[in-house]
Amino acid sequence: MNRDKKPLIKKDVIIIGAGAAGLMCAIEAGKRNRSVLVLEHMDKIGKKIRVSGGGRCNFTNINLRPDDYLSANPHFCKSALARFTPYDFIGMLERHGIEYYKKEKGQLFCRGTSGDIVRMLYEECCNAGVEMRMNCRVRSITKAGHFYVSTNLGRIKAGSLVIATGGLSYPELGATDMGFRTAARFGLKITHLKPAIVPLVFGRHDLEKFSELSGVSFDAVVGYRGRQFRGEVLFTHRGLSGPAILQVSSYWERGDEITIDLMPDMDAYELFTLKRKSRIELSNLLSEYLPRRFSHRWCELNAPARPLCQYTEKELKDIAHQIHHWTIRPAGTEGYRKAEITAGGIDTDELSSKTMEAKKVPGLYFVGEVVDVAGQLGGYNLQWAWSSGFVAGQYA
Ligand SMILES: Cc1cc2nc3c(=O)[nH]c(=O)nc-3n(C[C@H](O)[C@H](O)[C@H](O)COP(=O)(O)OP(=O)(O)OC[C@H]3O[C@@H](n4cnc5c(N)ncnc54)[C@H](O)[C@@H]3O)c2cc1C
Repeated sequence: MNRDKKPLIKKDVIIIGAGAAGLMCAIEAGKRNRSVLVLEHMDKIGKKIRVSGGGRCNFTNINLRPDDYLSANPHFCKSALARFTPYDFIGMLERHGIEYYKKEKGQLFCRGTSGDIVRMLYEECCNAGVEMRMNCRVRSITKAGHFYVSTNLGRIKAGSLVIATGGLSYPELGATDMGFRTAARFGLKITHLKPAIVPLVFGRHDLEKFSELSGVSFDAVVGYRGRQFRGEVLFTHRGLSGPAILQVSSYWERGDEITIDLMPDMDAYELFTLKRKSRIELSNLLSEYLPRRFSHRWCELNAPARPLCQYTEKELKDIAHQIHHWTIRPAGTEGYRKAEITAGGIDTDELSSKTMEAKKVPGLYFVGEVVDVAGQLGGYNLQWAWSSGFVAGQYA
């Protein structure tokens, strides 16, 4: 059938992207009796929500502070996060009888599965009269007074258009660059984009040194440009991962070094001084505090194999320093294929922090990860999606 013959569909609000931010926005706009149509190019809604938190969805963080977000304008996220807080989302879960639990560092997870949250959002959308179209290919977007969105399902006209297409990570879950292309098409600036919350990869030399440690992990403090992240560091077959590395990856810039404190809870030099007269090999002593395979490899590379009593004072001081400041220069990251999020996005100067509407294009809104607001690991990104979607839903 000739698509041009299909009748023009008229709505108040079109939302492109049925992820966390788009669905939340749809619910709120629907509750205001706006006629809302959500367009999604995948066959199901909320694919990223389903896989999030290892299938249990780390849906928010009750320790949330605006400082936990990266953005060229660190103040931009404050308004939305204050108007729809972690406790507002918790209230929604409780109204739907969804059980959750608190893990470390304020992270909240579903007791059941992430699917519970997707079902809740779907139910809320239905109750608010929201319509959804899956497998919908958006072909073009134009504005002539109203917005006209041309799709494989026909042409749709609306006064408000909300772009909720997320970032570039995990293309198999639906990620596309449509949000960024749409912003560019309407003359809005986009900040530098990069994969974030992503494993780091070694250069060739480090890979040769550490490839056999794949699977080994230890607790450490990872530092970069004055920021420090405590948590697990995990050797992969290509580099380093684990929560502390994923956290630092969002800040790390290509070419820079990161430092790792291998024994954050003790002073290595004090330990050496205590054992100063011992004939224990350094690698065996360190194995009491670090995984054996790692401490042996690390000592092979950084300390000559001999009993502790045969080291000079200066050598012990230097080794202790290296233990607390082990320096690695990653060659890169695993990229968007394995990044939890995209850092950077629509320049927040272009948007109202109160409504998420583009200042230069009335009626055009951007919500969620497509905006230059990137949260740290631990439920912060979904909370940003809920909060930004919520506020846009009050105005779209
Ligand atoms: C593996 C993984 C685990 C994660 N775990 C967590 C976690 O536990 N806690 C947390 O806070 N964050 C987590 N995140 C990050 C979080 O999922 C995202 O930040 C959040 O989902 C972003 O919401 P969004 O609505 O902006 O985008 P998305 O959820 O990505 O939704 C965008 C939607 O737009 C659709 N779309 C894209 N392009 C088009 C197009 N051209 N036409 C039509 N539709 C389109 C997509 O298919 C998708 O449905 C995780 C991410 C990944 C990849």
